Amino acid sequence: MLFRSGLVPTMGALHEGHLSLVRLARRDNTLVAASVFVNPKQFAPGEDLETYPAHATWERDLAALEAAGVDFVFAPSAEAMYPRGSGVMTPFVDLVGVDALGEGASRPGFFRGVATVVSKLLNILQPSCLYLGQKDGLQCVVVSSLIDELNFPTRLVVGPTVREADGLAMSSRNVYLDATQRAVAPAVYAALCKLQDVHSLGERDPEALRRAAASVIAREPLMTLEYVSLADTADGQELDSRLGGEDALASIAVRLGDVKLIDNVLLASD
Ligand code: AMP
Repeated sequence: MLFRSGLVPTMGALHEGHLSLVRLARRDNTLVAASVFVNPKQFAPGEDLETYPAHATWERDLAALEAAGVDFVFAPSAEAMYPRGSGVMTPFVDLVGVDALGEGASRPGFFRGVATVVSKLLNILQPSCLYLGQKDGLQCVVVSSLIDELNFPTRLVVGPTVREADGLAMSSRNVYLDATQRAVAPAVYAALCKLQDVHSLGERDPEALRRAAASVIAREPLMTLEYVSLADTADGQELDSRLGGEDALASIAVRLGDVKLIDNVLLASD
């Protein structure tokens, strides 16, 4: 049998979303590795690097990965990954224009940190397949470009978004929500469902589709809409003219108190 290895990169504080990727990898590979690494290079100053939930969940994460069938866990320290920090001659992997797109525009420097750590993980672990979640839709587009452009001999596999029963996409950061915020959080997915409904009724004007999602968030006084993005799945570019032959990634970001919730759905081409 052909030997194949799969890698599921995570930042820990694991939930069913992560474990579904492990199970997908288990199905297709001889050896399954997971990484647990809270990557400092993708956090901006003032973000939650110090308090990220994974700092308290290591034992539980390890047990969950073992139970899901992982053979190997790679959990380096920040010093081991970046021995020279961000000093002179340390590289960043940057994709041109990514900070102008959707979540990239909302978090400048974020995708540079992601592309850098993913490049390092692919070089260190050399997996045949890399498993990412659709939950972070633009991240999948960015990593797909990275793999193509830098000729990594790795195949990207994207697993579906795993949701709570009320539609909220699972996320390690959902633990930051208090009870009141948690009760209204499903509106984020409801907004995307509204956009999807309007699309399935034939609406192809990106502005009208964005408005459909925004109108659902506007009814929630605790929420502030950060963006609704309709992007080409091939290159992440925002779609400004009538949708047609391309698949579109409809993404949303919403502020709920100090917590930012992101989610997305795919719209099939005509
Ligand atoms: P993170 O630990 O947040 O960096 O996520 C690690 C991987 O798990 C990424 O590829 C995410 O897209 C994926 N992931 C996170 N949440 C979910 C979810 N609810 N469903 C599917 N995949 C997810």
